[in-house]
Amino acid sequence: MPLSRAFVDELRAVVGAEHVVTEHEQLRVYECDGLTGHRAVPELVVLPSSTEDVQAVVRACTRESVPFVARGAGTGLSGGATPMAGGVVVSLARMNRILEIDLDSQRMVVEPGVANLDVTRAVAAEGFFYAPDPSSQQVCTIGGNVAENSGGAHCLKYGFTTHHVTGLTFVLPDGDVVELGGKALDPDGPDLLGAIVGSEGTLGVVTRVTLRLVRTPQTIRTLLAGFATMDAAGAAVSGIVAAGVMPSAIEMMDRLTLEAAERAASPGYPAGAGAVLLVELDGVIEQVEDDAAEVERICADCGAFEIRAATSDADRALLWKGRKSAFAAMGRVATDYYVQDGVVPRTRLPEVLRRIEELSEQHGLLVGNVFHAGDGNLHPLVLYDSGAGETERARELAEAILDACLDAGGSLTGEHGVGMDKACSMPRMFSERDLRVFERLRRAFDPTGICNPGKVIPTPRLCGEVPGPYRTHALERIGVAERL
Ligand SMILES: Cc1cc2nc3c(=O)[nH]c(=O)nc-3n(C[C@H](O)[C@H](O)[C@H](O)COP(=O)(O)OP(=O)(O)OC[C@H]3O[C@@H](n4cnc5c(N)ncnc54)[C@H](O)[C@@H]3O)c2cc1C
Repeated sequence: MPLSRAFVDELRAVVGAEHVVTEHEQLRVYECDGLTGHRAVPELVVLPSSTEDVQAVVRACTRESVPFVARGAGTGLSGGATPMAGGVVVSLARMNRILEIDLDSQRMVVEPGVANLDVTRAVAAEGFFYAPDPSSQQVCTIGGNVAENSGGAHCLKYGFTTHHVTGLTFVLPDGDVVELGGKALDPDGPDLLGAIVGSEGTLGVVTRVTLRLVRTPQTIRTLLAGFATMDAAGAAVSGIVAAGVMPSAIEMMDRLTLEAAERAASPGYPAGAGAVLLVELDGVIEQVEDDAAEVERICADCGAFEIRAATSDADRALLWKGRKSAFAAMGRVATDYYVQDGVVPRTRLPEVLRRIEELSEQHGLLVGNVFHAGDGNLHPLVLYDSGAGETERARELAEAILDACLDAGGSLTGEHGVGMDKACSMPRMFSERDLRVFERLRRAFDPTGICNPGKVIPTPRLCGEVPGPYRTHALERIGVAERL
């Protein structure tokens, strides 16, 4: 349903006419996030510049029953920021200021549109950094990171976004503003911060975030080890963890990914390797040296045919550049790719990787593997050609891979979220009762179901697979979807 003229004028009055987008061609910029298979052109995009602006915008949306979705940089991979047709996108791009740096408390207060890497850049010279480091960190925003509870290579040692957020300013869907936490750890009362971090934009809009800063370690050592097979590299990962060594990162790439990354970024990975491990150690010099020697020994015992350490900051940056460009590098191998995101217990890695290989052969599609091996977070990249009618087969393969993760006792998302992509997969992991609890929590924040509807929580009729009594879905109530 088109938005009323009065509604559009109201938003223009709040944020300024130049910050309300209504032209179809401009709206198309917002039609999807990184999950490009799902698209919907929003009715309007609004770019607020303050908490008060956001408050006025969501109040107007609630009053008029217009669904809205918050958007950071749109790099999400699960369709979390995909708009609803007829709905509003609240882009936080203009709210990109660093508001306070408090090094005595090791805290920084930022607006949600600040890019992840800019947090570290602002304090690196003072000997601090912001630990959660998604590979998209040059562009993805802190607001998006909070919503997705994003991870990254170094979360193995330092923890995920949820461990680095101590306070939030949050606008509820009815326009009320709440302050949660602050600079201190562990505030009194129920853990509402914990509920909001990772809620994928379904509970309200984050407008200010207090982040924990970490001291830059005394030294960092980055090791690269080349193996003939994924099995051998997987055994080395298990060996490193079993030895009690705690690297800050253990990343693994398979042959296909290595070849693509080499062509894209020339990081100098070992030629002919079937798998490569990037292992990073940090801390005090003596400990790092001991641990590096132990890691080298374990990799050699597991059959590594090449082991080397980065010799300079530039060399280290290059090794990481290869890893961080791996997704994009797949564009050199196939016209389309789908990034799956599943978790398996670390000990089951080799077996699940073998199963992925079998599934890839059965479906006749290539799969590249690049992942956070230290915490068992797989990112199989299913390569396909939508122009050749392979989309459906790719989807089936991605789902079969997810089943393999769940069968191994894993989980359906590690860090990319459920969003629109996996809402219908939720019953594979959660019982009907679990889902009802999630729904009740959501309704406590958003009784009218107007905030990012259609994401995360499945409904029987929309997914067609959950038994039990029918409940009216939020999308139906606001007239965006109808029962078939
Ligand atoms: C090449 C590539 C590599 C990636 N690597 C990683 C990785 O290593 N680790 C990882 O975890 N992810 C990774 N991602 C996924 C993605 O970058 C993260 O999920 C990131 O946190 C999304 O941030 P964004 O600003 O782009 O958010 P968006 O995509 O714009 O939004 C993501 C979700 O956050 C919600 N949201 C955004 N801002 C707010 C706000 N202010 N208040 C409330 N909700 C909000 C949206 O509604 C949506 O549900 C990668 C993506 C790409 C394309």
